Amino acid sequence: MAYQLNEKLSRLEPYIPVEETAGIIHLDANESFLNLPQALLQKASESVLQTSFNRYPDPYAGELCEAFADYYHVDAAHVTAGNGSDELISILVSNFLMKGETVVTTAPDFSMYTFYPKLAETNCVEVCKGDGFTVTPEELIQKVKETNARMLLFSNPCNPTSLGLTKEQVLQVVQNVNALVVVDEAYMDFWHASQSVLGEESQYDNLMILKTCSKMGLAAIRLGFAVANEKLTGVFHSAKSPYNVNTLTQRIGALALREQDTLKSNTEAIKSARDELQAGMSAVLEHHPNAFQLYKSCTNFVTLRLPPAAELHAYLMERNISVRKFPGFLRVTAGSKEENTAYLTALENFFQEET
Ligand SMILES: *Cc1c(COP(=O)(O)O)cnc(C)c1O
Repeated sequence: MAYQLNEKLSRLEPYIPVEETAGIIHLDANESFLNLPQALLQKASESVLQTSFNRYPDPYAGELCEAFADYYHVDAAHVTAGNGSDELISILVSNFLMKGETVVTTAPDFSMYTFYPKLAETNCVEVCKGDGFTVTPEELIQKVKETNARMLLFSNPCNPTSLGLTKEQVLQVVQNVNALVVVDEAYMDFWHASQSVLGEESQYDNLMILKTCSKMGLAAIRLGFAVANEKLTGVFHSAKSPYNVNTLTQRIGALALREQDTLKSNTEAIKSARDELQAGMSAVLEHHPNAFQLYKSCTNFVTLRLPPAAELHAYLMERNISVRKFPGFLRVTAGSKEENTAYLTALENFFQEET
């Protein structure tokens, strides 16, 4: 007898993260370069000691969702917590779509948007972004209509382009399609609250917003949220596995989200680091006009497009600087002052050696 893997699994390519290696400057995963402050780590460890490890977690993560709702000024009854927003994307794709139905996303966009549909045996159609790395609301609306899609899923601001659609543009899309519009606002904290559609969910029966704690210094605990009206939230609660967010994550996540001043000052520090990185790259571009195309980032990373992207990636890697490589472009996460300087120096040297 021989066991045969099914077709979708035999074709699957594993996700290979860049390894965490000592001595390497990691600007490749959009993590925060700041750990939680010592006082918060202390509180977290005390909370761990008070945990009843023999008991299951709260299935609806009530306290945690309250803390999240307070931080983002939304209704706690509109919130579902997830084991990272990755898990929430997986649940959305496999349960809010039937086998064979269509989800529209954009390209380039977050890689998980095409990964989960393959596993769920749903169709995934991509709207390709041009040289400017943007799409218009009209293009999204048209593609959803044309394909009779049941879901539209995209990040705003976008990973990996670093660019965003305005709130008005996103709502235009929501108002003009019958599909469920899932707006992944993983990076919105680094742009501006005025561009977020959080809070709009009560007005629409087809809007869901995803958030994550991974970019604010909590990537280790795996914590994300979905925000939608009460009806959709009820359905989401029924569709997820009951104990999806473990007790330690619930407790530490709630503690952190209640330290609003700390989170806000860390967000500001990351935004300054991003601005510094952006300015440094503009300066390199001035020394080497047309060496690459630079985009004005509203995220915690800066994207640059250039034909020798692979060569630059390898050059940086040889100097122990790891950035994320895509076909024809690179994504560089904002790091500490020292990390940004090391990267910018290497970038300048690369173009000097090239000419
Ligand atoms: C980083 C990121 C996430 C975060 O996923 P988690 O599973 O919460 O770590 C979600 N969406 C986008 C677009 C991201 O870049």
